[in-house]
Amino acid sequence: MKIVLSEITDEGLDLDFEETVASNAIQLLTPVRTKLRIEKAGPEVFVKGGIVAGVELQCSRCLARFPKEIEASVNVVYHPVEELKGEDKHEVKEDELDMGFYKGDELDIEELVTEQIILTVPMKPLCSESCKGLCPRCGADLNVGACSCASNGPDPRLAVLKKFFDKGKE
Ligand SMILES: [Zn+2]
Ligand SMILES: [Zn+2]
Repeated sequence: MKIVLSEITDEGLDLDFEETVASNAIQLLTPVRTKLRIEKAGPEVFVKGGIVAGVELQCSRCLARFPKEIEASVNVVYHPVEELKGEDKHEVKEDELDMGFYKGDELDIEELVTEQIILTVPMKPLCSESCKGLCPRCGADLNVGACSCASNGPDPRLAVLKKFFDKGKE
């Protein structure tokens, strides 16, 4: 979905739509619900609002895939891409706004939506806060049940340490 910027009036533009988005970077399970307010101020375009989408993530501990609802808030200011080439480097203000660039008279909303979802996805997703992860020795999923490693006695590397400390006590 693309917005033609010259068609946006002084009153701004409100978008409220649901669209299926395809992305190589993230697995989307539901259409993306998007509510945005777009306003122009000179060459700058302000986009504010929110996005809700169901995505599939992979747990960083047990590697299981699981669905999660992502809520991304959008607060981006777009500059014409020509500004990048100009000598007068745009000063990046230290505020909460993300910055983007548009080319010509179009703003690609689909790109914005996928970008914002990807930014919101946690770096190390967890299927649950209490996920037990995989056994570092046999790779069993400890959420399913304990593996037999635990009953095979302590980790040999720890046993060496224990000996060392026991010696120190003597
Ligand atoms: Zn997990
Ligand atoms: Zn194990």
